[in-house]
Amino acid sequence: MALTGLDIYKNLPKENCKECGLPTCLAFAMKVASGQAGLDECPRLTDEARAGLNEASAPPQRLVKIGPEAARIELGQETVMFRHDEKFHHPTAVALSVSDADEAALKAACEQFGQLQFPRVGDVLQADMIALRNDSGSADTFAAAAKTVSDTLGVPLVLISDDVAALKAAATALSGSAPVAVPAASASADELAELAGAGAVVCVSGEMSAVADGVEALSGKDVKEMMISPGKVDTLASLTFLTQTRRAALMRKFRQLGCPALVFAESDDHVAASLDACGFVCKYAGIVVTNAWEPELLAPILTARQNIYTDPQKPVQVEPKIYEIGEVTGSSPLLVTTNFSLSYYSVESEVEAARVPCRILAVDTEGTSVLTAWAADKFNPETIADALKASGADGLVDHHKVIIPGHVAVLTAQLAEDSGWEVLVGPKEASGIGPYLKNEWKG
Ligand code: SF4
Repeated sequence: MALTGLDIYKNLPKENCKECGLPTCLAFAMKVASGQAGLDECPRLTDEARAGLNEASAPPQRLVKIGPEAARIELGQETVMFRHDEKFHHPTAVALSVSDADEAALKAACEQFGQLQFPRVGDVLQADMIALRNDSGSADTFAAAAKTVSDTLGVPLVLISDDVAALKAAATALSGSAPVAVPAASASADELAELAGAGAVVCVSGEMSAVADGVEALSGKDVKEMMISPGKVDTLASLTFLTQTRRAALMRKFRQLGCPALVFAESDDHVAASLDACGFVCKYAGIVVTNAWEPELLAPILTARQNIYTDPQKPVQVEPKIYEIGEVTGSSPLLVTTNFSLSYYSVESEVEAARVPCRILAVDTEGTSVLTAWAADKFNPETIADALKASGADGLVDHHKVIIPGHVAVLTAQLAEDSGWEVLVGPKEASGIGPYLKNEWKG
């Protein structure tokens, strides 16, 4: 039976020294109990206490850290099958694949990688890694290409080769950068341990029972951080591997499969590759290697990831305050909306498109949209009047007019009375903001 936080706490040093990164031993115990920390993170734990707690308290899925210090990515240590039960903790890393056989193509890929950025609801979405294939067949070429990519982009690498010597050469060239090494499924435990010794996070590939045996053998060689993979198999086999290994680790505490998984979403048909990658992101992949380099095919993968890895219990929200869009002056319009990210960014993008400098007041409605907040009485004359006052809007605009969403026109009279501002009713939908600002607004 799993230990509770208090069971674990009783065995901790109770020194509250913070060396584990948490303020108290009790906080650490709770995190261990929830599977979000390992006992190794308390350097003061006695060997005796560790031995007593280790088996029962180990997280069902290992935490794996990859990449150079400045661009480190953490994978694994997930605790639930379904995000509504809690949340998913470590987002899938998206690795764009490239061959080591064509130097010019590699250079072009490095340039393109930096340009693939997609602003979305307050974040900039981008791929995380380069997956380098040893198509050249040369260990020297592979190692040199890995070094070039790492030095140019500074991102973590996935190294893919059937030649263990080539993987070792590349891992050695990337010393300190913790690349992920993906050898052939036939690589022996000794060869995998050798790669781990060269600084790589090794990936154990194959069908599930062989992977479980491989993980067990590597653990016996004191290798702690590793990944698992079904290899390059079809969509259904990849999804089956992802869901069954996750279920085995979390539901049945089968520790040999408790490692983050790497899968391939590569195809000559890049649309199919993108669709596969979206599915794998939604179904537990730790790393997705894909050749969907086109912006219109990469963006859906990153969007799926952003959606899946938000905390479902916390609405995505922006800071409640006044935002200035463009070169505002005292006569610029002042629009009001809620601090729900999608509401705010819908308004912001329409204002930007209209090229009319504006201020937008995001009222704190605990991250709910205009109509939801109005129905829940969180977006009412009093909350808007309070937000106007707290934001200092009075000192920023000289026309003393505020524009509210058309959906809450019913608030007009009371808001005017509560705030002392002249209240104008804007369009119901964000798409109407541009025409409104251009044709109806009079400062
Ligand atoms: Fe307590 Fe150990 Fe954390 Fe120190 S490092 S606060 S002793 S759990």
